[in-house]
Amino acid sequence: MPDLLPQAHAAAEKAYAPYSKYHVGCALETVNGGIYLGCNVENASYGLTVCAERNTIFQAVAAEGAGMKIAQLSVVCLGHEFPPCGACRQVIAEFSLPDGQTPVTYLHNGQPVTKTMAELLPEAFGL
Ligand SMILES: [Zn+2]
Repeated sequence: MPDLLPQAHAAAEKAYAPYSKYHVGCALETVNGGIYLGCNVENASYGLTVCAERNTIFQAVAAEGAGMKIAQLSVVCLGHEFPPCGACRQVIAEFSLPDGQTPVTYLHNGQPVTKTMAELLPEAFGL
């Protein structure tokens, strides 16, 4: 699998984050081999802000259709380190490999950390 952290970093540089100043980028690879990038896009009406991870996933669905599955996903925040937020974890889980086996990579103490969705969101909501 390709290392997506450099692409996530490049996407973070395009973020629209004038309010939080948290420039977040995401890159994901689908099981079909597609690579998609996204960044957070904030809004003066804060509740309308959308995270980098969800923007990326929505692009992948628009390109590949409802059957899109995420083979791997990486997220980077310039100058900060954190894993995907709870809302994004639920959306990643929706398009994860079976049994939450999609790996998610983010930085912690300057090093890449990879966890499966099952580890990041045990007992994810599903119908
Ligand atoms: Zn999020």
